[in-house]
Amino acid sequence: MKLYQRTIRDLHQMLVDREISSVELTDAVFNQIDAVGDKTKAYLLVTRDLALRQAKAADERLRAKRDVRPLTGIPIALKDVLCVKDVASTAGSKILRGFIPPYSATVVERLEREGAVFLGKTNCDEFAMGSSNENSGYRPVHNPWALDRVPGGSSGGSAASVASGEAIAALGSDTGGSIRQPAALTGIVGMKPTYGRVSRYGLIAFASSLDQIGPMTRDVADGALLLQAIAGHDPRDSTSSSRPVPDYLATLTDGVKGMRLGVPKEYFVAGMEPAVEHSIRDAIRLLEQQGASIEEVSLPHSDVALPAYYIIAPAEASSNLARYDGTRYGFQAGGGRNIIEEYMKTRQEGFGAEVKRRIMLGTYALSSGYYDAYYLQAQKVRTLIIEDFRAAFTKVDALLGATSPTAAFELGAKTQDPVAMYLNDIITIPANLGNVCGISVPCGIVDGLPIGLQVIAPGFAEEIALRVAYAFEAATEFHRARSPLMGAAA
Ligand code: GLN
Repeated sequence: MKLYQRTIRDLHQMLVDREISSVELTDAVFNQIDAVGDKTKAYLLVTRDLALRQAKAADERLRAKRDVRPLTGIPIALKDVLCVKDVASTAGSKILRGFIPPYSATVVERLEREGAVFLGKTNCDEFAMGSSNENSGYRPVHNPWALDRVPGGSSGGSAASVASGEAIAALGSDTGGSIRQPAALTGIVGMKPTYGRVSRYGLIAFASSLDQIGPMTRDVADGALLLQAIAGHDPRDSTSSSRPVPDYLATLTDGVKGMRLGVPKEYFVAGMEPAVEHSIRDAIRLLEQQGASIEEVSLPHSDVALPAYYIIAPAEASSNLARYDGTRYGFQAGGGRNIIEEYMKTRQEGFGAEVKRRIMLGTYALSSGYYDAYYLQAQKVRTLIIEDFRAAFTKVDALLGATSPTAAFELGAKTQDPVAMYLNDIITIPANLGNVCGISVPCGIVDGLPIGLQVIAPGFAEEIALRVAYAFEAATEFHRARSPLMGAAA
């Protein structure tokens, strides 16, 4: 097996045993980036020099057996919404072209402390707004399983990098599905932790009450490891929780025997591809065979989650994005006759169409006279969704459903129809609005395209979601499948 096809845990063992060095491993991943990067366009920026410096430092630690951590020497990709000090960070937007953050995100600092190696900044939808990566201000990303298809979004570059062997693991961000949906569409594992579990300090904000950073990996145990490294309280993010972080690996292999797993009937949505429904029903049966008891449950307000999200998220975005006016960050159009005209020109030229659509939607929903009818109403719906989950979790330990109603679709197929695009996240959005956690794990490959099973657990019960996902993974082979671009795992 090639080094770039392996898991974090495998490589960690090889590094510790001095079978390989981190420099060798990092070189192997960069060779793969050189070989297939033009096809996937997974990266916006490759940080070769930084990676090599970090790999050398990791090798020192490994040689001296000093402070060797599970991620020491492991090459990881970072979604371009995460600030890395002195490394250009654009959030996939032209308006941040040339912006060099003067500080690093907390998750970035934590990975640095672990001794991880940063490969670069991955492509994404502009300000993480999108489900296909086609809203990137730079270029779309191609799915390593079928290059004419989208990798999902908005963390499409992170997903494609892991699925193509251009990274061993990656970080993404999830506001309405942006880790789980691209993970599903590229055959990898992606987890959205509970809001507050991971610090958002240094994450370029989209919708601050929904955004969470999380791991994108080859398998569930790697996801647990990466989450372990980034979770926990951060005094620089007042919304980060001070609850202690459990040992995610300790309960990972406990199995589902005796667990109660709920299947929300609303999650088999209209428009779901039959192949997806099939795979999900098979996956549920398999978990039942593993000893879980399965029961149908109802989350009665699921159908209004999407409309509520498309008020709340754009409302928060319109406020967060007000800061991009050309005076402080990145791009400045120039040529305005006065300051107002300059602001207008900069925002007109710097933002893409989807971002403008959301700013207009959000500004409208928050404006006096409409606030009660839209924003306040959407917040009430959010409360109902929180209550739906609370009620369901009095009966069951976790919920099962598809991650995305479809497998990866063709590039361009939905770009003219925003609502069709928004419907991609119909089963992932409720977990963000409901303050719970969710993971997507590979559960099928149909016509050469991966399908993902979503496991949703209560807030701050990541260990339960991981445990169910692991039990499923351990009984199946889907996570071992490698995209044609990564090559068959020998
Ligand atoms: N696709 C959803 C949107 O466009 C979710 C994006 C995300 O999770 N960042 O808003």
